[in-house]
Amino acid sequence: MRIKILGSGAGGGFPQWNCNCANCRALRNGAAGYRARTQSALAVSADGENWLLLNASPDLRQQIAATPQLAPSTHHGARASPIKAVALTNGDVDHIAGLLNLREAQPLAVYASPRVLDTLKANRIFDVLAADLVTRVELPLDAPLRIEGAGVDLGLAIEAFASPGKIALYLEEAGAAEFGGQPGDTLGLRIIEKATGASFFYIPACARIDDELAARLRGAALVFFDGTLWRENEMIEQGLMGTTGSRMGHINMGGRKGSIVAFATLGVERKVFVHINNSNPALDANSKERAIATAAGWLIGEDGMEFTL
Ligand SMILES: [Zn+2]
Repeated sequence: MRIKILGSGAGGGFPQWNCNCANCRALRNGAAGYRARTQSALAVSADGENWLLLNASPDLRQQIAATPQLAPSTHHGARASPIKAVALTNGDVDHIAGLLNLREAQPLAVYASPRVLDTLKANRIFDVLAADLVTRVELPLDAPLRIEGAGVDLGLAIEAFASPGKIALYLEEAGAAEFGGQPGDTLGLRIIEKATGASFFYIPACARIDDELAARLRGAALVFFDGTLWRENEMIEQGLMGTTGSRMGHINMGGRKGSIVAFATLGVERKVFVHINNSNPALDANSKERAIATAAGWLIGEDGMEFTL
């Protein structure tokens, strides 16, 4: 199974169009230790020819152009794509807006929770993915589902599970408990290669690592995990936004209650942070935060990184 990070940034990417934080400024000024990042997505393939996207970021067109494996193969006719299916972890703009890049009458399948499929249905612009060509499939919770699209069996299965999280900001209902969110609005995914049974986890949004999630991840071969923030209050401290990480549904990397500490005893073989917000000090390769993450065995995900399982 081959896995590629198409985009390692969080919503807005790095640099973000309207952001003057220290990181975004340093990157624009060409400072050493900084790399640009597109928004959150992975690509997976069992056979190297047919690919499943995990999330569809607004940068998808650019990500496809930067990924030779996702270019149309010349022996499949005038219009073709190796992208056969897309699985969505939630309804965030940075995870679904890229679907609009996949119009042009190309057959594929979209897998998501019933509530995210409802969101796509309610926003008529997504009808550009014509229903007769682009099938919508519900991802059940805690039951592996075989992944196919455009008539191709991808040799993969997805086991979706509820990730402790939060409903997308634009779908919040003011005054409602949990802002109108329900379990399963944010999914974690375990992607399984059917031929070998090898599997990895993709969890780009997670508010906390509870006992259930810890048990699920224990001993995993590879986990791509929510690296949005280093500190709970960093968006506020940097004057960017008046919200904490937990209000946004993201655990922080650092500190006693952070993900680095929570993973320390889980025995995960390879740990990779993705969905990294532009405010995160670990984006600076020369920062003490980067050194802490690296010393704890974490990779800070970068666009284009490839993994084999
Ligand atoms: Zn910034």
